[in-house]
Amino acid sequence: MGTRRVADILKNAQPDEKVTIKGWVRTKRELKGFSFVEVNDGSSLANLQVVLDSQIPEYENLLKKINTGASVEVTGVVVASQGKGQRIELKANTLTVYGEADAETYPLQKKRHSFEFLRTISHLRARTNTIGSVFRVRNACATAIHKFFQDKGFLWIHSPIITASDCEGAGELFSVTSLDFKNIPKTETGEIDYSQDFFGKPAYLTVSGQLQAEVMAMAFQNVYTFGPTFRAENSNTSRHLAEFWMVEPEMAFCDLEGDRNLAEEFLKYIFKYVLDNCPEDMEFFNKWIDKSILATADNIINNEFARITYTEAISLLEKAKKKFEFPVEWGIDLQSEHERYLAEDLFKKPVIVTNYPKEIKAFYMRLDDGGKTVAAMDVLAPKIGEIIGGSQREERLDVLEKRIQESGIEVDSLWWYLDLRRYGTVPHAGFGLGFERLVQFMTGMTNIRDVVPFPRTPLNAEF
Ligand code: ATP
Ligand code: MN
Repeated sequence: MGTRRVADILKNAQPDEKVTIKGWVRTKRELKGFSFVEVNDGSSLANLQVVLDSQIPEYENLLKKINTGASVEVTGVVVASQGKGQRIELKANTLTVYGEADAETYPLQKKRHSFEFLRTISHLRARTNTIGSVFRVRNACATAIHKFFQDKGFLWIHSPIITASDCEGAGELFSVTSLDFKNIPKTETGEIDYSQDFFGKPAYLTVSGQLQAEVMAMAFQNVYTFGPTFRAENSNTSRHLAEFWMVEPEMAFCDLEGDRNLAEEFLKYIFKYVLDNCPEDMEFFNKWIDKSILATADNIINNEFARITYTEAISLLEKAKKKFEFPVEWGIDLQSEHERYLAEDLFKKPVIVTNYPKEIKAFYMRLDDGGKTVAAMDVLAPKIGEIIGGSQREERLDVLEKRIQESGIEVDSLWWYLDLRRYGTVPHAGFGLGFERLVQFMTGMTNIRDVVPFPRTPLNAEF
């Protein structure tokens, strides 16, 4: 008989079974002749209630050590619970304290703490109900993502974290260098001499694995990346991190239609998986964080997403009674307020918007007939706004070269990317999902800093 997890015991254990658990004390209640000790081991939201009889050796001494936060091992017998709130409890035969937690200084006492405060103790906050549930759901989302793609035969590829191709929006990039800041080599014209840097040229933390995913899709047909990406954007919002995870599927022989179908199927799959695997955590979010979470999940799983073109979106926004901060006209990049109006107020479900003006989208998106728009696709979600951004990629060499030139990027630097169009080019498409935005959407957590274990944001890289 080894140690069992609390989730397993709460679900499966029967009276008279002898079990051992290990975990951390959440609360202790002393009554006449015995005490209740709530133990949590991270496997579930619910604690296991341990009954500690005063007849147990060293009872008084033990009780002093069992404060909130202490780590314990308990061996005992499962009994049917007299109280309501739990089916069973554990009658302790022995209880060992591994490490005490001083009641005076342990920051997590039995009361509600604000998320702002919890962020200042990110090394301890996973021991709270809400943050614990967040990370179990985050794990389930990650598992669902891999399962979804693996079951479809997609290859998980590992795109590089350091890149030397600055393709999308400079200024948002973190530089990677091994130059000595106190003694930076300069060229004759006074610029930084990157030829002396580690890679012999400027290098950055990746903002997206897409270009590399395209390379791999041209050999394996269907691939996906799932890894960290970085943006040095100084935007202190509840939806932006400097380090976040992205999922980027890329499919050869696929067009915009196939792309958006996959995006919809994908989101539905993840929601269903999380509801099936984390029902307790999802009910917790629905009760304490956002009372519409379960209805939203149901809505996602059971309704078809709305599908409109950018041009249709603009005319819907122009007709809207709502006053927007950013004025609406054809050609603008949709702002968060516009996206949320469409998804939250108008359609009341996710909306897939396609065919954006080429001026506001990246060079690699396929130019539509007519030459004004590109085969882009954004999935807009209620409360979150853009959750997925994708496109059919430009597979025609001449068109792509022209688009690269227009966007001011040096064509030669993308020689390898262009080679994909020179040798065996095919229509292909993909999208990127911000993983933390997904977890936010799933749980109703309003601040993205609370769905990643150790948030990296401007002026903050503690822990
Ligand atoms: P936004 O307009 O919200 O800043 P974006 O247009 O910069 O998003 P993309 O470059 O299309 O986003 O990135 C793909 C996905 O990554 C987005 O749909 C979003 O879900 C997520 N994402 C983008 N930037 C961040 C960030 N700073 N922190 C967390 N997730 C992000
Ligand atoms: Mn952005």
